[in-house]
Amino acid sequence: MKKIGIFGGTFNPPHIGHVRLAKAAADALGLDRVLIMPACVPPHKLPAALASGEDRLAMCRLAFGGDARFEVSDLELRRGSKSYTVETLRALHAGDPAAELWFIAGSDMLATFRQWYRWEEILSLARLCAASREAEFVPDLSGFTPAQRARITVLPIAPMEASSTEVREALRSGRPTELLQPQVLEYIGTHGLYADGLSAYRALLRDRLDAKRLHHSECVSDAAAMLAAQYGWDPEKARLAGLLHDVTKNEALPAQWHLIEADGGTLSEIELQNPKVWHQRSGAAFLRQNGLVTDPEILSAIACHTTGKAGMTLPDKILYIADFISAERDYPDVGVVRRLAALSLEHAILYTSRYTVMTLQKKKLPLHPATLACYADTLRHFGLDKEKLPNGKDDAT
Ligand code: ATP
Repeated sequence: MKKIGIFGGTFNPPHIGHVRLAKAAADALGLDRVLIMPACVPPHKLPAALASGEDRLAMCRLAFGGDARFEVSDLELRRGSKSYTVETLRALHAGDPAAELWFIAGSDMLATFRQWYRWEEILSLARLCAASREAEFVPDLSGFTPAQRARITVLPIAPMEASSTEVREALRSGRPTELLQPQVLEYIGTHGLYADGLSAYRALLRDRLDAKRLHHSECVSDAAAMLAAQYGWDPEKARLAGLLHDVTKNEALPAQWHLIEADGGTLSEIELQNPKVWHQRSGAAFLRQNGLVTDPEILSAIACHTTGKAGMTLPDKILYIADFISAERDYPDVGVVRRLAALSLEHAILYTSRYTVMTLQKKKLPLHPATLACYADTLRHFGLDKEKLPNGKDDAT
C-alpha cells in the first residue's frame, strides 16, 4: 500500500526546520511520497507579512528540491479559499482511496488539533505524525479516544528552534539567519520579500533603544498592522507607527523636555510628576523635528499612545491598544484584552483605560487627565457616562 505524507503549512518562508521534519517523518514512517502543501490563508493564523502563494510555492520547490520523495503541491492554493485540512484530505483520499495518508505537523499543531475544523474526520482520513518543537515535549492525548490515539504517532526527533516568524524578523532587521537554505535566501533577496521599507527606521532604533525595547517595538508594529487590517487603517502606516512609538523612550529626560519645548509645548504639573509619559510627546516631536515622519495620523497616534485621550481617532486607538496586546506582553489580563481587541477596539479601550485609572488611583500615582478623559469618553460611547468617575478623593471601584 502506498504511503503518502501531507505536510501542510504557511511556509512563509520554508526553513530548515520544515525540511528536517519532512525528512524525519518520511524516513521514520517509510513514506513513498510527501506532498508539501502551502496553505492559502490558514484559518488559525493572521495573514500579516504573507508572501504570495506563487512565491511560497517557488520557495518550497527550492527548499524541498533535494529529495525525490518530496513533491510541492498547489492544491490548497488553487482552491483559492481558506485552507481547511479536511477538504485537502477528502480530495486526496478520493483521488487514491487505497493510499495510507499521513498528516505531518509540529507539536504546536497537536496542542490545538482538537479545535481544527472537523478534526475527527481528519483523523479518520489520515494518521497524524507530530514532531516536537520544544524540549521535553510530552503530548497530551487525553482528549482522544483510544482508537484515535492509535492513529497518532509522535516523531522522536530532537526539537529545533526554528520558525518562519524568527526568519522574517531576522530578515526585516537585517540580521543574518542560518535557518534558511541559501537558495531560499537568494530567492527572497532577488524578489524583495519580507523587506518592508522599514530598514532605515530599524537602523535608527538600534542606535536609540535597548534590545528589550526594540523587541517590544517590533511586536507593537505587528499588532498595530494586524489591528489596522481588521479595522480599516493603512497597515503600512500602522506598522511604522508601532515601530516608532517608543523612539525616545530610552532618551534622557532633559533631552526629552527639550524636544517637547522645541515643538512649542510645555509640560503640565501632572506630567512633571510622571516623566514616564513624556516619551509619547517627545517621540512625536523628535520624529517631526527631524523630518522622519510627516504623516499627521502617525504623529498623533504616537503623541497619545501612553495616556490615550478624549476623541481618539482610529489610528490613535489602534496604536494605543496595540501597545497593550503586543505578542511579548504577559501581564495577567493580556488574554482578555486581546480577545476584546479582536471584537471591538472600544471594548478594549474601555477595559484598559478603566484598568489604568483604577490602578493608578489605588497606588496613589499621578493620573494624567488625558487618561481620565479617554476613560470618560469611552464610557460615553457606551452610554455609561452616569458611572461615577474617580475625582482624586473617592475610590471609584
Ligand atoms: P510561523 O512562525 O510563521 O508561525 P512556522 O515556522 O510555525 O511559521 P508553518 O509554515 O506554520 O511554520 O509550519 C508548518 C508546519 O511545520 C507546522 O505543522 C509546524 O508545527 C511545523 N514546524 C515548523 N517549524 C518547525 C520546527 N522547527 N520543528 C518542528 N516542526 C516545525
